[in-house]
Formats: sequence, structure tokens, C-alpha cells
Amino acid sequence: MDYLLTEEQIMIRDLARQIAVEKIVPVRAELDEHNKFPTEIMKAMAQADLFGIYIPEAYGGLGKKSLDLYIAIEEISKACLGVSTCYAANALGSYPILLYGSEAQKQKYIPSIASGKDFVAFGLTEANAGSDASGIQTTAKLEGNEYVLNGTKQWITNGGEARIYTVIAMTDKSKGARGASAFIVEKGTPGFTFGKKENKMGIRASSTTELIFNNCRIPKENIIAREGMGFIVAMKTLDCSRAGVGAQGVGVAQGAIDECIKFAKGRIQFGQPITSFQAIQHMLADMQTQTEAARALVYSAARMMDSGAKDFSRASAMAKVFATDVAMKVTTDAVQVMGGSGYMKEYPVEKMMRDAKILQIYEGTNQVQRNVIALDMIREATKQK
Ligand SMILES: Cc1cc2nc3c(=O)[nH]c(=O)nc-3n(C[C@H](O)[C@H](O)[C@H](O)COP(=O)(O)OP(=O)(O)OC[C@H]3O[C@@H](n4cnc5c(N)ncnc54)[C@H](O)[C@@H]3O)c2cc1C
Repeated sequence: MDYLLTEEQIMIRDLARQIAVEKIVPVRAELDEHNKFPTEIMKAMAQADLFGIYIPEAYGGLGKKSLDLYIAIEEISKACLGVSTCYAANALGSYPILLYGSEAQKQKYIPSIASGKDFVAFGLTEANAGSDASGIQTTAKLEGNEYVLNGTKQWITNGGEARIYTVIAMTDKSKGARGASAFIVEKGTPGFTFGKKENKMGIRASSTTELIFNNCRIPKENIIAREGMGFIVAMKTLDCSRAGVGAQGVGVAQGAIDECIKFAKGRIQFGQPITSFQAIQHMLADMQTQTEAARALVYSAARMMDSGAKDFSRASAMAKVFATDVAMKVTTDAVQVMGGSGYMKEYPVEKMMRDAKILQIYEGTNQVQRNVIALDMIREATKQK
């Protein structure tokens, strides 16, 4: 399929592909086995300028857009979804500053994110606030020139590894969702520590931890936008990053197809390669067709975002839902095509299937995304009446 990529996008794709093949594939099983953060790979990605793709040139980035970033995410995800989660979480964590930060905040924090020197994480979820983010309990109280943060964030990607954290906390609980605000917290600030590191089913190269705030004092100027804007910052951030989760889905699905077709060509049963059986051929055809459809939807959502469209919430949710459901189906089918071998850790599809599951859950579960899509459809239909 021709996705009409520019020369620069093809260069980004090839660069990310080279890192994936040379640096990620040889170590992905070990990272998975030992729950190990891919520090050396992140360094190689930083050297290749992959962290600054979507960041404006004024802040040290390459000045490209969402599609360019998604192309890189897709290539890294083909090799390892754990590594791609560490990488993509930087975009997630930086969007609050890029979208709503002051000029001073952008100048202070974005260049080191663009260069890959500093990792960043996004902290919204809490033990009692997952899909219903309005239930967050972490508070931020203004005392003189400082906000004092108290509370615990749960399951934060890049927790402990990142130096910069964009965190949503309540500045006025009585106002409900309108009482939330967004903040920048730096690692090392007194009163800010990391709790439990999760032992996960998949994406084990990525770090997932608690963020604990215990009378953590941050300068007043670390608020992003204004008090009460926290949920708008969070929802717009997720709108921007969500189709990137779709790109992760496209990548892992394509990675699984590439692995299983290679295996199937060499696997002889009943005196012939299993690729000669129509049952296998049809599975492969469906897997590739679904993956191409997912890629087309993700790229089209990205192009809509990059065109300057104001509201792309539905497009971003659709890309995420479709591509990640495809990822789960295709990786499961890849295991099936390979039979018992697919179930073994000697082959990467076992890990790909475990890894793919998270895509249907994080950055808003696929059920919740379907709510978003349906509500937007109903709103539009009501307007047209
Ligand atoms: C590995 C990992 C990394 C993560 N990284 C981050 C991160 O970096 N930053 C961050 O802030 N969060 C992060 N999260 C949190 C993630 O975004 C949440 O797990 C997710 O939003 C779902 O919340 P929950 O797990 O509490 O599920 P719940 O909200 O408890 O949902 C449980 C089930 O109920 C369904 N459900 C809930 N409400 C509805 C509804 N209204 N309609 C239909 N179905 C519904 C859900 O779809 C799901 O199937 C991460 C999570 C994991 C597991």
C-alpha cells in the first residue's frame, strides 16, 4: 500500500527501523524476561533525534507533526511494544506543556525532552480513579508562593525513569472536575517519591510505578495553564496521544505477521509448508488486511490532527479502538498460525500477544473510547436535526 509518505517521513521510518532491527530485536526477550528499562536503546534513539520529532524547532525539536511521530512509534512497536511504550510516554507527558504551558515552561522543560536527555511521564490515574478520572484525590494547595501536593498516582509509565512529571491534582474539590489543575513536578523535589514498581503481563521493558506526593512543595509557577484547567489539559493531551496508541497497535500487528509468515513458510506438515493450506492463507490475508485498515485509520487521524483541525477526539478514539483491537486479534492469530511454537518463548509472537493487551486498556479503555465515539455521533446527529 502507498501511504504517500514524504521523503522525510521515509527517512524517519528507515532510521527507526534500523534502531529496531539492530538494537531492539537482539535484546527484547531479555528486557521482557528481566523487567529491564531499555536505557541504552533510549540513548540510541536520542542520538537519532527521535525524541524531538513532534517538537517545534523553537524548542530544539525537528518541527514535524503527529504522523511523523506515529511512523517512528510504529517501527519501534514492530520490534518491541515495551520499548515503544517508554518512548511514546514521553510524547504523552510532554503534551500538557506543549499544548498549555507558558513560554517560560516550554523554554525550561521542552529542549531537554526533545534531545532525549530528560524523560517525562504523565500522572493522572489513581487507585480509585481510572476510567473515571474525575475521582482523583491527589490535592494541590496553594500556600504562599508554592503548591503543596499530597496523594498517590498509580501505574505511571516511565515512573522513576523520568525527570519531569506532568501531574493532575485537585485544587478545589468542591468544584468536581472543574477543580482539577495540571502541574509540573521534577524528580528529586522533597516529598516526591516512587512507590510500587509493577510486575506486568506485558510491556515489561517499560517502568510502571506509583508517584507518591507527601507534602511535596513546588513553585507556584509550575502550574500549567490556570487553576481549574486540569481536566481540559488532560483530555486534550489524551486526544493528541491516543492515536499514537493506535500506531503502537499497527506496529505490533505488523511485527507479528512478519514473524509468523517467516515461520509458516518453513514449517512442513503433511509433506508441505503450512502456507500451502488455505486455512492458513486466509488467516494471513485477514491479518494483513485488518492491519492495513488500522494503519490507514491511524494515518488519517494523524493527518486530520496535523491539518490543524480543532476537534479530533472522535478520529483519535476511532484510530485507537480499531487499531488496538486489530493488534490483539492479529497477535493472537499469529500464535495460532505458528501452533505450539507460537506459544513458546523461543519465538517473539508469544511476547507480542502479551504486550498487545495493554493497548486496549491504557490511555482510556476501548469501552470508554466507544462511549466517546458514540456520544460524539449522537451530538452531531442532534445538531443536524
Ligand atoms: C501498564 C499501564 C500503564 C499505564 N500508564 C499510565 C500513565 O502513564 N499515566 C496514567 O495516568 N495512567 C496510566 N495507566 C492507567 C490507565 O490509563 C488505566 O488503567 C485505564 O484508564 C483504565 O482504568 P482502570 O484500569 O482503573 O479500569 P477501570 O476504570 O476500573 O475499568 C474496569 C473496566 O470497566 C470498564 N468501564 C469503566 N467505566 C466504564 C464506562 N463508563 N463504560 C463502559 N465501560 C466502563 C472499563 O472499560 C474496564 O473494562 C496505565 C495503566 C497500565 C495498566
